[in-house]
Amino acid sequence: MTVSEELFTRAQALMPGGVNSPVRAFGSVGGTPRFLVSAKGPHVTDADGREYVDLVCSWGPALLGHGHPAVLDAVHRAADKGLSFGASTPAEADLAQLVKDRVPAVERLRMVSTGTEATMTAVRLARGFTGRNLIVKFAGCYHGHLDSLLAAAGSGVATLALPGSAGVTAATAAETLVLPYNDLAAVEAAFADHGNSIAAVITEAAPANMGVVTPGQGFNAGLSRITAAHGALLIIDEVLTGFRVDPGGYWGLTGGAGGAEEAWTPDLLTFGKVIGGGLPAAALGGREDVMNYLAPLGPVYQAGTLSGNPLAMAAGVAQLSHATADVYRQIDSNSLALSTALSTELDRAGVDHSIQRAGNLFSVAFGTSSGGVHNYADALAQDSYRYAPFFHSMLDSGVYLPPSVFEAWFLSSAHDDAAMNRIYDALPAAAAAAAG
Ligand code: PLP
Repeated sequence: MTVSEELFTRAQALMPGGVNSPVRAFGSVGGTPRFLVSAKGPHVTDADGREYVDLVCSWGPALLGHGHPAVLDAVHRAADKGLSFGASTPAEADLAQLVKDRVPAVERLRMVSTGTEATMTAVRLARGFTGRNLIVKFAGCYHGHLDSLLAAAGSGVATLALPGSAGVTAATAAETLVLPYNDLAAVEAAFADHGNSIAAVITEAAPANMGVVTPGQGFNAGLSRITAAHGALLIIDEVLTGFRVDPGGYWGLTGGAGGAEEAWTPDLLTFGKVIGGGLPAAALGGREDVMNYLAPLGPVYQAGTLSGNPLAMAAGVAQLSHATADVYRQIDSNSLALSTALSTELDRAGVDHSIQRAGNLFSVAFGTSSGGVHNYADALAQDSYRYAPFFHSMLDSGVYLPPSVFEAWFLSSAHDDAAMNRIYDALPAAAAAAAG
């Protein structure tokens, strides 16, 4: 028995499924989850002493790799001064300023601790500001585990093949309209039917929780136009993409000033993952008039004992300060090289697939070469059974991939040539396993 097996047995007797977040249980790939004991640079090490090249990066936060010296040093220095005060601290404004400098659509910012809290607050704020109830979301987009946005959610909900979640009341579900992604005509139709009742449209800036899906040219700009025309708000969820695909997130890369597409501006944005440098920090931000509806200035209540926690703020400030242009250049170039190598090996093994991309984020979908994945129906229709043998072959070769085909592969600036070469070396056998 491996140490991970022993630890999993013990954990299952103590915690539902042995985990504290479902996808960690390896449910869709099978086998025993690796219990990780340390991480450094591009590597994680499991309880059996095996080192893996990490392509999960804590599901996104580790933009600079694990244990970046500047981040660790900032956290140590903050810890020496106190772990939590429950009062305002200078570092909160430092991090807010760094966000505002990178994402000009953020006029005001509120720090919270998780991405779920950020989207939950954004939804409540949109309802409070507009005085309307309905929220539009897209099938396959994941925004955290708040009741109103669990319908047809991606990520673990897709991995476990759940339609939504038990425990969400019919009344709550009825206040969420779920539309197909990349379909502006469906959005127009929903607004034609319910325009005066829709508080907000929420969308991932680029979906990465049904695998990666590229927003069609002009899709996000179209959402901005339609919501503005009907007095609804547009909430762009950058929890996953923010500060990862570009200093300005996916919005900065595409629709922000200097982006690749027609310029447009979201009303609210949500952030998480990278912003906390590996500690629990997240945020929502956007238009000043909307954000000022939050307490204590406005009538929409939101609070948090650990919001703006000094260690998390210090980690976020250090990480964003070190996320230079070179960091993004390196991740962009490794992402392109790796996804190209992956595609080449799958072609060589005769495995039908498409590489799904949005900026430097990518994932692979199987059996989809004819058109790729553009929405949740496409994502669910793929040959997802091919992922488990692929995943386990990579794991055996020392590469730790997300344990679900519906997740993006995450790189960091610590992925050097040696780490990348270990991944390339593992691909041929994994492609053959996927063909099997
Ligand atoms: N929004 C998006 C786009 C996400 O990818 C996630 C998590 O993966 C969340 C929200 C929820 O964030 P958290 O897990 O920190 O609650």
